Amino acid sequence: MIYLSNLFELEIKKDYTYLDQLTDKTKQYKVKVKVIQKARPKQSPGKKKCQQLILQDDKGNTMRGAIFGDDISTFEQALERNGEYEISNAMIQPVPQQFQLKDNEYQMNFNDRVNVTPLHGESSTHGPKFLSIAEIPRNDDTNKELLDVLGIVLYVGEIRSVRTGNKEVPVRDIIITDDSTQHPLIMCAWNDLAEMDCETFANWSKSFIITALTAVHVATYKGFSLASTMSTEIVSDPQGERAAKLRLWAEENQMLLRDRQAMILEARTPLKARIISTLAEINAKKAANTWQEQTHWIKITIPEANHCDLYFYMGCNNCGRKGIAEKGDTYTCSHCKDNKAIAIPRVTFTFIAVDKTGTKKFTIFTKEVETLFGLTSSELHSVATSDGATKLDEKINHIRSTELFLEIGPSVALNSSRLLSWVVRTISFE
Ligand SMILES: [Zn+2]
Repeated sequence: MIYLSNLFELEIKKDYTYLDQLTDKTKQYKVKVKVIQKARPKQSPGKKKCQQLILQDDKGNTMRGAIFGDDISTFEQALERNGEYEISNAMIQPVPQQFQLKDNEYQMNFNDRVNVTPLHGESSTHGPKFLSIAEIPRNDDTNKELLDVLGIVLYVGEIRSVRTGNKEVPVRDIIITDDSTQHPLIMCAWNDLAEMDCETFANWSKSFIITALTAVHVATYKGFSLASTMSTEIVSDPQGERAAKLRLWAEENQMLLRDRQAMILEARTPLKARIISTLAEINAKKAANTWQEQTHWIKITIPEANHCDLYFYMGCNNCGRKGIAEKGDTYTCSHCKDNKAIAIPRVTFTFIAVDKTGTKKFTIFTKEVETLFGLTSSELHSVATSDGATKLDEKINHIRSTELFLEIGPSVALNSSRLLSWVVRTISFE
């Protein structure tokens, strides 16, 4: 009898509990989970140091985990991002109401009484799996998969402040390159990572540092970039085969790296005097040696300006894209998903710019059209649709005979799909 009951118990023990079945009442359970996030430890004033985890089971259920104080170092290697573990004996606690991301949320607390057994032994699924820049999946802003990237640091920016929701958040740009592509890549380091110990990169402008950026995800800033997550770590001079190969390549390609760095520095250092490029020079530029943030001034005329090339529509007051609502109506924008978007008059203007060396076609949008015509979009809408035809003709004639300065730069298609087309950023009459 005893033998049978033991067998029965053994059978039970093999059964894993899923994360959505765990509550603070659950006793005697065993879960099989993967660590999908392991945050940088956080020290809040007056509180114990805390490290957050996100665990995921085979059904895709997720649960937050927390490690406190000295236990953080205990689990440094025992729980790694991407690692799969069998866990038992961890205390399940309700997440305090104000921190709940879903109803009845629980979290798993780790201390030295918890049993953590790695599955697959010394499997290669643990730790970072480095991609080259060319291998990073593009054109998918819904992809929140965490990636690990190795690169050579070309530029480290100053901290800037970005408004998200109702607070200002620090961000720092780190621009990297490698041997897989000619296009440098921006990684935005957010929050505490932006304020990181800068000694790591103090000498970025003097020598080329190899860096590992772990647990980052793809972002759409400047067309294509990377953004840090709560688990991201920035490691300078990482070890391993790929890092060694990249270090050697960097040593052999100093000139090329200096050129790429100069391209970024030039774009990020505002010039005092305006230097004018010719359209022939702009037309000769190739995607390979153009940086996303470059700008050029051109001095042009629009001798063939035509009011037929004005295009009017109602668009979203948030993202500017075309909507189906009437002027002033509130609607849900299908592009930016803003559910309080207001339809406002918008306008585009397409023209051929001419200088002594060549021609180039541009399309400008609402703000620049307003500058060029000296009228608001609403005024333009009304002069174009009613008895304002003479006023519009006067404006067009004036534009045809006026010399203009345009500041142009590559569209974000350069970063997102390596296509070079130029867009107007500023219009100036002097
Ligand atoms: Zn919108």
